[in-house]
Amino acid sequence: MRVKRFLLIVLCSCVLLALNAALGECCTPGRESCGKENCFWETSMDITDEETIWNMLVQPMTVVRGDPRSQVPVYEKPDKESKRIGEVTSDSQGIHVIETLDDGWAKIECYSSSFKGSKVEVYNQLVTGYLPSDLLEERKVKTAYGLVVDKFTQRLYLFHEGKLLDTLLVSTGLADEEHPWNETRSGEYVLNSRSGAFPSEKLICNYGIRYNDGDLIHEVPHIPTSSGKNYTTTEPKLGSRASHGCIRVQRKRTPQGINMRWLWDALRGQMGTRIVIWEDWQGRQLPIPDDGIVLYYNADGGQNYHCAAKCYGVRDEYLPMSQFTYGDLEEPLYSQLGACPYCNPPLRITEIQTINEAYAGD
Ligand SMILES: [Zn+2]
Repeated sequence: MRVKRFLLIVLCSCVLLALNAALGECCTPGRESCGKENCFWETSMDITDEETIWNMLVQPMTVVRGDPRSQVPVYEKPDKESKRIGEVTSDSQGIHVIETLDDGWAKIECYSSSFKGSKVEVYNQLVTGYLPSDLLEERKVKTAYGLVVDKFTQRLYLFHEGKLLDTLLVSTGLADEEHPWNETRSGEYVLNSRSGAFPSEKLICNYGIRYNDGDLIHEVPHIPTSSGKNYTTTEPKLGSRASHGCIRVQRKRTPQGINMRWLWDALRGQMGTRIVIWEDWQGRQLPIPDDGIVLYYNADGGQNYHCAAKCYGVRDEYLPMSQFTYGDLEEPLYSQLGACPYCNPPLRITEIQTINEAYAGD
């Protein structure tokens, strides 16, 4: 009996250790170590750790000197004749300096900022290589706000003076084999210009703020019509990948009044604010929710379940909603409800398991 229990404990500990390894080691944006505290590349992609994330967001950033609408190559070796293994956008893209060599070169890592038409076709891959060290400079960032965009959750987390102020739905780039350049480039950047509305094929993108040459954050696009603006082809995709590389941000205001328009206004005079984009690495896992979590739904034909009693995605006429718990979500009465995108309740256990299996560490 004792032996069996002991074996069980050992087995459980092993599972836990494996899980911790999966959650911990894989889940930083970079692979290398520079020794600097609160470095973006070595900070765990854990949005619940508000203090750590804020400390990371306000650190100075190492960038390449130059025009923010241009890129420089990353070399495979400390030699300009060696292979070009990636590209870095000047001025607004942060790089992880791992080591400064004596011979005028620095060993660095970053996500490659190749775009459609780039000479180096390495799209959004995390590369480790070399740059001439005289190109590098450290720049301070603005410290009132900080932005985290997570490709795994398709959310934008807005920080203000040390606190997570609000969470907004986004769509990052949807790449395929024919359009690998559509993948939103991950890494760390600073906002660098409020460029405003621009067209993209038949769509109009309002409130564009540029942070990485061709990549901007902007309002979820609309089709202009005689009677106004049509968002019906783009808004339902928020919360999943959909764009050509830009980050589409929700238009609907949160209870605090925050949306892309709000960001556009609040970030006036805040160019130089850090925006980090987290990669959905293998190994990232969604937490398993507690069965006791209280959920809400409109018993009179509601399509979604909610975690906010007064969800801002629900019209006033449907309030107050009926209450149940997460543990009952698979009961027939609730089994057809979808997760409300706005108040962001936990997904169904089967959906979480599917995602976690797909993202399990190698
Ligand atoms: Zn809701």
